[in-house]
Amino acid sequence: MADVLEDVSEAIGGTPMVRIRRSLGTGLNGIEVFAKLEYLNPMGSVKDRVARYLVDRALASGALSPGGLVIEASSGNTAMGLAMMATTRGLRCRAVVRHQTSREKLDCLRALGVELILVDGDLPPEHPESYNRKARGLAAEEPGAFFPDQHNNRDNNRCHYETTGPEIWRQTEGRIDVFVGGIGTGGTVSGVGRYLKERNPDIRVIAVDVEGSVFSRHFAVLSGAEDDSAPPGGYLLEGLGDEEIISCPEFDVFDRMLQVSDEEAFLAARELAREEAMLVGGSSGAALWGVRRILPELHRGARVVTLFPDSGTRYLSTIFNDDWLRGRGLRTARDQSSRRRPDPPARRPVSPGASQ
Ligand code: PMP
Repeated sequence: MADVLEDVSEAIGGTPMVRIRRSLGTGLNGIEVFAKLEYLNPMGSVKDRVARYLVDRALASGALSPGGLVIEASSGNTAMGLAMMATTRGLRCRAVVRHQTSREKLDCLRALGVELILVDGDLPPEHPESYNRKARGLAAEEPGAFFPDQHNNRDNNRCHYETTGPEIWRQTEGRIDVFVGGIGTGGTVSGVGRYLKERNPDIRVIAVDVEGSVFSRHFAVLSGAEDDSAPPGGYLLEGLGDEEIISCPEFDVFDRMLQVSDEEAFLAARELAREEAMLVGGSSGAALWGVRRILPELHRGARVVTLFPDSGTRYLSTIFNDDWLRGRGLRTARDQSSRRRPDPPARRPVSPGASQ
């Protein structure tokens, strides 16, 4: 037999990189854009990589023993990856998930045998029952339980530094000018960004945050950039942003942060389905939005890479449901006349690596 894997976790990573063109409009000026399709991992998201990395390291170090329990807070995707690891390594998995998480994700987690602890996503982060605190508390109560702590454990970033970053470098043969990635825990954009910058310091790294998240203001304070971020508050986009500063984002790796609105992210995700045949979630829409935003600043022939974290099948009842969108006062499609197309290139193109 050839090319046969021993269990499904061995199928993680090595994801395709695909050119995107139709969703970028005209006037590309020779700029090339590629997306790394992380939704093609076995459980449908980029977080499979992190789940495997953290669990296998914990097993190797003895922090986790066979038959043991993994407890994590997750917007859904990490928990699905951890469920795969639990099943393939003979462990149990419990996940703290917000009530507001999409129905499909909750159904998938139940189907995979994850024990769910649902918490109210509106509780302040310092509340012991909040999404941010609950998993740590539960793990402390269970002797031998492993708490991966994906929001603060830099092994999350290391996983992308060791796998996703090198894959992107190889797939582009080192010819890349800008990397655009969403920021949730910050593991992906920090780990990939750090790897790429070590190979070529001129590569610009752009992190896409969501309006209502606290990351952008923090970045502005640290970098001395103008703070044009939206006030902290609730948002609908799953997977990006946070309501408190956590330890994984490596703000020194980012050249710039952008903040997307729920509506812009959702509309862009819907456009990716229809214009690229890529059925992806709202954070992929956010990534596309980020790419579109920077296109006018790039020089002719620049090469941009972005990453689409998860599958749109997870959001059929939300982002891809017109009634759900309308019920939240959001548009279901862009008015064609107002469709954001990249503006014509700036008269004096910004070279990659130029500071903002
Ligand atoms: N998109 C989705 C759908 C996610 O679940 C996550 C993880 N929170 C991200 C993007 C962001 O990835 P990271 O945690 O590596 O910043």
